[in-house]
Amino acid sequence: MLGEKNRIITIANQKGGVGKTTTAINLATALAAIGERVLIVDLDPQGNASTGLGIRRQDRRLSSYDLMIGSNAIEEIVQETVVPNLSIIPSTMDLLGIEMEIAQAGDRIFRLRKALAAPAALTYSYILVDCPPSFNLLTMNAMAAAHSVLVPLQCEFFALEGLSQLLETVDQVRRSVNPTLDIQGIVLTMFDSRNNLAQQVVSDVRTHLGEKVYHTLIPRNVRVSEAPSYGKPAILYDLKCAGSQAYLQLASEVIQRERQRKAA
Ligand code: ADP
Ligand code: MG
Repeated sequence: MLGEKNRIITIANQKGGVGKTTTAINLATALAAIGERVLIVDLDPQGNASTGLGIRRQDRRLSSYDLMIGSNAIEEIVQETVVPNLSIIPSTMDLLGIEMEIAQAGDRIFRLRKALAAPAALTYSYILVDCPPSFNLLTMNAMAAAHSVLVPLQCEFFALEGLSQLLETVDQVRRSVNPTLDIQGIVLTMFDSRNNLAQQVVSDVRTHLGEKVYHTLIPRNVRVSEAPSYGKPAILYDLKCAGSQAYLQLASEVIQRERQRKAA
């Protein structure tokens, strides 16, 4: 069983470009801004979360690869980011080889869970795991290690189709290795109010999934897409823009749900 001292949230969707990394970075920043100690684990070999938080490739000495291999402790790998209270375990391309390297290991699905059971992980109140865009061993590790899965869903036609596959995978993980795995919530991203189809997708998703869907809609916003090239979360780059404001609102919904869960 996972402990109750912190909250480990895996941000997953097997599709690329749906807003996983953007959500990880900005939700983490918003939580850090209200004083929570937050850790992002970048589990995508692309390393977009690391870049987007200002960690240059040449400055990534140790990474999530070393965490998964088990060669180094969290506190040796963690790096500070441009955001106070927000640390990161960066990723490097080494991670591409991990699947092969641990394929024969009996604990291959539990590497991340074991690493995050260390005392250093308990010093963070939130740990957000940014997944690659596939159901590979890295994503399975992230689901096996988490209390819950947060799903960013892009407001487009095929969104629901991919979602049922994802929810099925979460079910499988729950039945096999992580019985308490929960759906933290589904967040609709890159919403464009001028697009009728997007409106339709929002209403379909809400009909099918009800209260699991956050009220906050993340709008498509140029400032949000510009921010990573400055190595900053949108919330630091332009706090006032609609995208940043939406992510702040999302964070307050996440916190509210956490309070309700703890009270229940
Ligand atoms: P994923 O991690 O799921 O692959 P990203 O978070 O990297 O997705 O987002 C994919 C692309 O869309 C990136 O270029 C990102 O900057 C952009 N993007 C994400 N969210 C928004 C948004 N709300 N408005 C505009 N662009 C966005
Ligand atoms: Mg990503």
